[in-house]
Amino acid sequence: MVVQTQREDGTWYECEGCGLMFDEREDARQHEANCDAEDPSYIQ
Ligand SMILES: [Zn+2]
Repeated sequence: MVVQTQREDGTWYECEGCGLMFDEREDARQHEANCDAEDPSYIQ
């Protein structure tokens, strides 16, 4: 899931799965589509 984050330097989009930050929502969404961090096996 992509979370919108408001910071003093602008709006960021964070991948909730792995915490990666993007300045473009489209970049975040594309990352999310390929991100497998939300797989429970990632947290061990
Ligand atoms: Zn991610």
